[in-house]
Amino acid sequence: MLSGKIWPAHPHPLPDEILSSWIVRVAAANGVRLQPLCWMLFGNAQSPWNRDIDRNAPPWLLKAFSQHTGINYWDIFHTTLVTYRTRLYPRRQSVGQLRWILPVKHHGMQRTAFGQQFCPECLATDEIPYFRKQWRVALFSYCPEHHVELHDACPACGEPVAIYRGDFGRELRTARLMQVCHVCEHDFRGAERKKAFFPDEGLRQVFDELLMSLGKPANEMCRFNLGFLAVMRQFCRVMASRQNHGRLQAYISERLQLSSPTLPVHRICFEQLRRDVRHHSLLCTLWLMTDLERRLEGAWVTKAVRYNMMTKDMDDVPRRYRSLVQRFANWRLIDAVVSER
Ligand SMILES: [Zn+2]
Ligand SMILES: [Zn+2]
Repeated sequence: MLSGKIWPAHPHPLPDEILSSWIVRVAAANGVRLQPLCWMLFGNAQSPWNRDIDRNAPPWLLKAFSQHTGINYWDIFHTTLVTYRTRLYPRRQSVGQLRWILPVKHHGMQRTAFGQQFCPECLATDEIPYFRKQWRVALFSYCPEHHVELHDACPACGEPVAIYRGDFGRELRTARLMQVCHVCEHDFRGAERKKAFFPDEGLRQVFDELLMSLGKPANEMCRFNLGFLAVMRQFCRVMASRQNHGRLQAYISERLQLSSPTLPVHRICFEQLRRDVRHHSLLCTLWLMTDLERRLEGAWVTKAVRYNMMTKDMDDVPRRYRSLVQRFANWRLIDAVVSER
């Protein structure tokens, strides 16, 4: 077991690396198992792994790893999803669904949600395979670098990916690497590369631009700011909602000549959708967003979306959007709009 204040190996976080990935690498680089390492640091009563440490990293965890690796506390803090505050969501929120962040929902030690995605090509070409923060963001349904679909589960056994569980209940020599499924040992680097689907080149470009903007500093985000993303998420929510009965998705799918995916029977939030359905919703919403006024009018006229859903449960309606949708408040005007068109 490790002794002394600074451990012998202290790898730095890699670009966009997520906290849990870095912690797994720190333990491996020091030749120790993660589970006993955490027992040693925090005792049996305080396991970091029964919470989503990437979303809500407790300061005691960051402090301990900073002390023992000599790496600056804030450099470690930046490996958490909190860094998306003001980019994807307006304020910190420790419980409930966080806008655009995929949940990994814990039940004790079991992860039950499919919120940890990965790109097999990124993992295969990494000198040191590691997991990125962007793979926990609902907007990322494909890798903008390799244009392949992200996987949201082990493709061999279908279990959710839990990168920190490779050595749980195992000896160090039989521990599984982070890039290997902790259940069935499938190597994620060998997972199928499926080309991401886009109905047209224009939509692919906008999607790419949106995803790339999230890796840039806040002042270079161009049009994909918090307001844009608040409106975009609203339409993603409408599509996933039961009240809309899949009308908006069907309306846009028809325009894009896509077949509508079957929505889950139970009401779930957008971030809980599996990757394929989410990708479809994102394509539909981006299509809408690229000419919002005209396309939303078209959807409203055919009653694919009602006025009350356009701002329902939104806690920060951008001013421009509010005035744009105001014209859809009176459904009696539909006939007048139709005759104008
Ligand atoms: Zn990739
Ligand atoms: Zn598996």
